[in-house]
Amino acid sequence: MSGPAYDNNNIFAKVLRGEIPCNKVYEDEHTLAFEDIHPQAPVHTLVIPKGKYVSMRDFAAKGSDAELAAFVRAIGKVAAIKEVEDQGFRIIANTGVDGGQEVPHLHVHLFGGRRIGRMIAQN
Ligand code: 5GP
Repeated sequence: MSGPAYDNNNIFAKVLRGEIPCNKVYEDEHTLAFEDIHPQAPVHTLVIPKGKYVSMRDFAAKGSDAELAAFVRAIGKVAAIKEVEDQGFRIIANTGVDGGQEVPHLHVHLFGGRRIGRMIAQN
């Protein structure tokens, strides 16, 4: 199973093409990080691969080693840039329908700046 096809018109594809502006936090050859438009914590930054991957599942199956390494390192760099390394933070990658994923381009949410609360909603 390969999962859903990539939609070139999803919001983050438009951000990557520069068609929609973003508040950039970090960028390298393979990865872009920018502020979430509706922040749910004092720090709420999105980290995305530049490649066309729908989800973590898709990325894990098809991403190159260089892309995977860059993505994980970028999360660490964003935590440093946003100064939440010491106090702590949470990363979430919503995946698919049950995961509540709204934008079908892989993204990790990085939350911090306050106690983030319990692990998941109970409903
Ligand atoms: P998901 O529910 O797919 O895990 O998260 C999608 C996230 O993208 C949401 O937190 C939402 O606020 C954010 N978002 C949606 N559209 C835009 C946009 O145009 N720009 C930015 N920066 N974030 C967006």
